Amino acid sequence: MIQLYIPLGFLGVIYREIKQSLTDLEKMFALLEKEREIADTPGAQPLVLPQRPGDSRQDALLPGLVHAASHADVTFDHVDFAYDPARPILRDISFHIPAGKTVAVVGPSGSGKSTLARLLYRFYDVQGGQIRIAGQDIRTVTQASVRQAIGIVPQDTVLFNDTVEYNIAYGRPGASRAEVEQAAKAARIHGFISVTPLGYGTMVGERGLKLSGGEKQRVAIARTLLKDPPILIFDEATSALDSANERAIQAELQTAAHNKTTLVIAHRLSTVVDAHEILVMDAGRIVERGTHAELLTLGERYAAMWNLQQE
Ligand code: ADP
Ligand code: MG
Repeated sequence: MIQLYIPLGFLGVIYREIKQSLTDLEKMFALLEKEREIADTPGAQPLVLPQRPGDSRQDALLPGLVHAASHADVTFDHVDFAYDPARPILRDISFHIPAGKTVAVVGPSGSGKSTLARLLYRFYDVQGGQIRIAGQDIRTVTQASVRQAIGIVPQDTVLFNDTVEYNIAYGRPGASRAEVEQAAKAARIHGFISVTPLGYGTMVGERGLKLSGGEKQRVAIARTLLKDPPILIFDEATSALDSANERAIQAELQTAAHNKTTLVIAHRLSTVVDAHEILVMDAGRIVERGTHAELLTLGERYAAMWNLQQE
């Protein structure tokens, strides 16, 4: 049904982008030393995303970005998952992120929050239930197209042994230097980069510039802002930053998430107040859910966490 409304020119741009990103994805997997746990089903087609009504490009961080024009809802439908069959991690997880809305996940360490992010990015396949983007089971479409639609700022960012510019532009191959700098400024990393002798040409990694956890996180944020995809995942995206930088970047992320379908895993509850829905996880299950106001009224786990953080 949806496909009928997609202009062909739009699809052409998506295909080109996916093709460009394929080599880089291979590189990324080599870098992460990650075995391919999953593979495309024979004849898998790219994910098809509906176009947003109106001139959605006005919301783009930078002018002319393709993905700002598309949107997608995300559904976890009775998802079960285990890294090791003997030890279930996620049990019967269901939630829906309407296109352009934010769902927040909170809960203790080890409760399975990052696993949700990894499953949506399809690092692993679910063992029960389904994850759908714009109504399409992500196991039935190409991995490359799923990852093209998603920008992820993970808890621990791994950078390429390449230049700062490459690491930021990776999210958007072919980006101009001006666009890279604009994203770096928004992620509060431009100042740091511009005082190094080689600037954006500086190599990072083992034999190059060693970045702190917070600096790497800001590079990942710049990359995601530049990529400007319809779906965003922030996994404790500012946890490695000092509080001054955190507040500034939090504001940037909030702007970036405007009209984007966003899964935000938060360690600081002040960032989830406006979420469409907040999920409280414990031991792989959703134990509480609702809006900020609803969860405060409920007066249980979330309310206790909130009160603790207000002190
Ligand atoms: P959270 O983000 O809430 O701290 P995670 O989703 O990272 O939790 O982890 C959930 C559980 O899954 C933890 O018990 C963790 O030890 C386990 N886990 C995470 N990653 C792996 C992995 N690659 N292999 C096996 N177990 C894992
Ligand atoms: Mg985590």
